[in-house]
Amino acid sequence: MKADPAVQRRLLELADVDAELARVDHRRRTLPELAEIAEAEKSVQTRKDAKVANETALGDLDREVKRQEKEIDAVRSREDRDRALLAGGTVNSKQMTDLEHELTTLQRRQTTLEDELLELMERREAVELDGQHAGVELAKAEEKLSDAANRRDHALADLETVWARRTEDRAKLVPGIPETLLGLYERVRKNKGIGAALLRARRCGACRIELDRSMISRISGTAADEVVTCEECGAIMVRTTESGL
Ligand SMILES: [Zn+2]
Repeated sequence: MKADPAVQRRLLELADVDAELARVDHRRRTLPELAEIAEAEKSVQTRKDAKVANETALGDLDREVKRQEKEIDAVRSREDRDRALLAGGTVNSKQMTDLEHELTTLQRRQTTLEDELLELMERREAVELDGQHAGVELAKAEEKLSDAANRRDHALADLETVWARRTEDRAKLVPGIPETLLGLYERVRKNKGIGAALLRARRCGACRIELDRSMISRISGTAADEVVTCEECGAIMVRTTESGL
């Protein structure tokens, strides 16, 4: 394949642009913020789950408290009824003894229920505090997530700018390269990552292999408009005064 040396040198510019596009693409996929976001999302989810569990526990305790209060009310009204009967003076002595006995039992029951209620309220208070703490932790995790997402968006926007600029550069370069040469360049680039490189100081700029004496002398004897490729990596080796030929 033949191509004017100036056209071949244009491939070096194209290779630079493509290298930068590849770097941008790699950077986009490996931004440290992406791992940070994944971690933060997990953390937010864990804290959301904790909050839901806390709200459920609080709801259960509230129901228990209500049930307990209702039971205490029932015992109290029974006591009130017994006291009213005793005060009414309409009961005989047997009934009076029974009522007094029942009152003692009811008062004991009331004390037990009130102690239990107090314990429930203390538990509820502790769970409520846990809930407040969980809320703070969730807010912190959410802030961390949104901070990482913001940084990712900024980084992506910067990369997008570079990408757009280099894509423009590429669009300007491509029309100046004959189709067959560009086809060869693209094929090698697709397979090996680098389509063309400078032959510098007797090394292929793509794979860095040092060319042996016979290869160098063969390239030296090749016309300047002949397209030379690396035997090792297939990249188009562009010759300039830096090539050491
Ligand atoms: Zn090579």
